[in-house]
Amino acid sequence: MLHLPSKFSAALVITASFASPALADLQVHTYSSPDPDSVNTYAIETSDGLVVVSTQRTFSEAANAVTRIERIGLPVAAIVIPVPHTDHFGGLSVFRDAFPEAEVFASTATIRSLRTDGEGYIASRKAALGDDFPSQEQVIETLPENVLENGDTLEFGDVSFEVIEVPNANAPSNTMLYSEEESTLFAVEVVEDGVTAFLRDADLDAWIATVESLSERLPGLETIYGAHNAPAPAAYAIAQQREHLEAYRSALDAALSDGVMTDIERDQAVADLMAHFPDHAQVARIEQSELVSLNFQWQAERRLVSE
Ligand SMILES: [Zn+2]
Repeated sequence: MLHLPSKFSAALVITASFASPALADLQVHTYSSPDPDSVNTYAIETSDGLVVVSTQRTFSEAANAVTRIERIGLPVAAIVIPVPHTDHFGGLSVFRDAFPEAEVFASTATIRSLRTDGEGYIASRKAALGDDFPSQEQVIETLPENVLENGDTLEFGDVSFEVIEVPNANAPSNTMLYSEEESTLFAVEVVEDGVTAFLRDADLDAWIATVESLSERLPGLETIYGAHNAPAPAAYAIAQQREHLEAYRSALDAALSDGVMTDIERDQAVADLMAHFPDHAQVARIEQSELVSLNFQWQAERRLVSE
């Protein structure tokens, strides 16, 4: 395969340091947009061509990712939009223009969310990013045409993936791809270490239960690719994500034990969480301490409503 002095070759070195010998067969190229708010686009080699996961947030970052992918020198067979958050689909039209043969896949729930913008993410990003982001009309024009369901098998020549659909985690729909043969899970944001969870749409209890059940559900799992960080050994990433989400749950339990949350309780919990995870990356273009505070507020409101 082609080795060029790009981010892809650096990412391959990182991948190799985590991979056991059995994993050497799966070639995963990674384009990561710059910090803050770095998001990964993966290009997985198969004998049918590349399978791309996520298309960046902006047209300009999508163009950068496309340039890197073109340098690999293989056709793109498929593009998967794994989650209906803007950092994973905003650049889809740039990918469609560059790789018109590629089939585009997403879950029913993700396609619905893109079509309706029920959470208002598309409108707010369009307002902030202007010409570097699609309008709602453009998103509808480029909707994925292939629907993924939980339990589907996606086959691309010598590589096949099980589709594992997770509702109620980072987003209302999170489409993970699992290669049993390669013991590798593309987990989007369901499991990733070192990244601040985004809790606006999340059912925290359901998310934690999903993370806890993964090792049992996928007993051969060795390597996890998250959406905003480097790949990691599965046991490590799962433990880190559990600790992160459980810290939020404990803080919520403590602050809401009397059924109300005072400003002092909230500020203390946010300070504790920041101290616990000082180096976590920010996401969603929200500065980290503000995101932690918003996370806490969103989850507190969710609990108080459901009581
Ligand atoms: Zn993301």
